[in-house]
Amino acid sequence: MRSSYYLKNREKEKARKKKYYLENPEKVKARGKKYRRENAEKIKARKKKYYLENREKEKAYKKKYYLENPEKEKARGKKYRRENAEKIRARDKKYNLENREKISARGKKYRRENAEKIRARDKKYNLENREKISARRKKWSLENPEKVKARSLKYYHENAEKLNAKHKKYSLENPEKIKALSLKYYHENAEKIKAYQKKYNLENPEKIKAQRKKYSLENPGKIREAQLKRRGYGEVKKGVVNRVIDANIFKYGSITCERCKKQCPGLSDYHIDHILPVSKGGSHEFDNLQILCAYHNFSKHVDIADYRGEKIIEPQGNLFN
Ligand SMILES: [Zn+2]
Repeated sequence: MRSSYYLKNREKEKARKKKYYLENPEKVKARGKKYRRENAEKIKARKKKYYLENREKEKAYKKKYYLENPEKEKARGKKYRRENAEKIRARDKKYNLENREKISARGKKYRRENAEKIRARDKKYNLENREKISARRKKWSLENPEKVKARSLKYYHENAEKLNAKHKKYSLENPEKIKALSLKYYHENAEKIKAYQKKYNLENPEKIKAQRKKYSLENPGKIREAQLKRRGYGEVKKGVVNRVIDANIFKYGSITCERCKKQCPGLSDYHIDHILPVSKGGSHEFDNLQILCAYHNFSKHVDIADYRGEKIIEPQGNLFN
């Protein structure tokens, strides 16, 4: 408590002190320093108490000051952070470790409440930094092949249904692209694929049998069509027509005319054509058979024309099932 004398003579006292300070600056400074050193705890406690009791006032004051001196404040903040980088890092780390739950909850809440904003911000950032992001990803992938593999496996495992549906939709909408991709892939890996299929077929006879049976049950129309064809051709070996159909599907993604390269949408819309006509000694073997649309089968008559292009490739084993 200040004395009533002081209260009554405030201005006079202030002036006296100022005069003394101006005349004895070193002395005053040393005294202040000594006092602060000897009473550090007390000062700290007093400051804390004051701050707790006047939190709103202090906040308002700081805000006002910051608004009036933004550059100064910024510079001070920067300087402080530069000089105390280690301290700040340690403090942040400690805080993060002690408040993990709180921070996580806060982040979740923020993301929930600002989903739109975050999405827009991310999109903008991604668009503006496409090159950078792609380079960073590439670098990371090259440095972490095992992680990439594990992640991709995990992702596929968890999203198998979704991915399959997506892939199916894409295939249906982009038959040309799929055809090109499949051809390219097969062309580049023919030996490897053949060896793999052979090995697989030898190791999984029961599986192959079951798959073929399942396939037959699920495609009765196609099987019936093949049976009709076979009946018409008399001595065609069992399975040859199916092989021709399978090879065609493998090549194009769905049954497609070898001449016009158009898809044959219905079961009766395609024909098994003898490249060298039977009347001219053509066989019923795989190599002499191709698929043509109804129009081109009828318009071909008895010409000898192989429209299949490069050597026809036969799928084996589990490529489609
Ligand atoms: Zn055609």
